[in-house]
Amino acid sequence: MTSWREAHQQAMFAAADAHDQLGIDADHRIDVFRIIEEVELALMFRPLRGVSGLYVPGPQRVGGGILVTSNHGLARQRFTAAHELGHFWLNHGGSIDVATEVLGRDELNRLEPAEMAAEAFAAWFLMPPELVDASLQQLQIAKPNSAEDVYALSLRMGTSYQATAYHLPNLKLAPYDVARDWATQPPKTVKTALSMGTPMPSYQQDVWSLSARDAGADIEVRAGDRLVLTLPETPSSGVMWSTNELPGATRVVADTMRDHLDEQSQKSLLGDQPPGGDVPRIVILDLDPGTSGAVELALTKAPVWAPDAPVDRYRVNLYVQQPLLGRPIPA
Ligand SMILES: [Zn+2]
Repeated sequence: MTSWREAHQQAMFAAADAHDQLGIDADHRIDVFRIIEEVELALMFRPLRGVSGLYVPGPQRVGGGILVTSNHGLARQRFTAAHELGHFWLNHGGSIDVATEVLGRDELNRLEPAEMAAEAFAAWFLMPPELVDASLQQLQIAKPNSAEDVYALSLRMGTSYQATAYHLPNLKLAPYDVARDWATQPPKTVKTALSMGTPMPSYQQDVWSLSARDAGADIEVRAGDRLVLTLPETPSSGVMWSTNELPGATRVVADTMRDHLDEQSQKSLLGDQPPGGDVPRIVILDLDPGTSGAVELALTKAPVWAPDAPVDRYRVNLYVQQPLLGRPIPA
């Protein structure tokens, strides 16, 4: 009888071995769909009913295929794909998976050993220690200290909020009871706090909190996601960020220059601001649901009397994903 502890110990090594053998940069977001194609498995997205995904082995290890439901969000689909890849990598037989990401949902029901192994493989494959460290560095934190931190970490790694929270104890980054408290908070609560009182058209979308630390970063988002930009500004200086150059694929839904944002959530997210000092300028943008591909998000900061002579520029490179159906489009 395999225990989860054993499954995780074995999966940690199996996933690291897979990264090595397949030449994967374990400190970057793991592009599991591309990797599946590289190991010559066919990958398809279909509106499967009541099934997360399935793996069909080929006659001689190659030539098999993976099917992932198109009914789940991207993070869940990535986990399912990694679970099915686990069945392939660990030489399991074919598998039809009604539910994957059970780790994420803390279901302690006993699974078949092969299913436990594939679940644990998916967690370590998508969230190797190198990637977790690199993502924490991007976020400029040593470890997650709040539900917002866990959520931000999950977005950087392309994993679900719950799966990320439950992986933290495996990585010795949080005690189990703390991780469970975070995991059981509905992501909607975190998204609402990050939106500072500005309602979202759909709480299925993600909220990316972007600040100076993210300048120049490449970020993979989903069409319709929300971006909350927090940039330093001293209004009394007359040098202001301009939203004029924002791409047409974005819509400003709130801007502290003209709108009032919820002060309580601002305070809890940004801390107390010294009076008379820098007041962060906060701009909330929603991405057009019809957008896809590369979108450059750029803002310039210029004196109000000389708008054509910018003194600072902020840029983030977005890569916008549409929902997946059929065959994934190669990047
Ligand atoms: Zn399975």
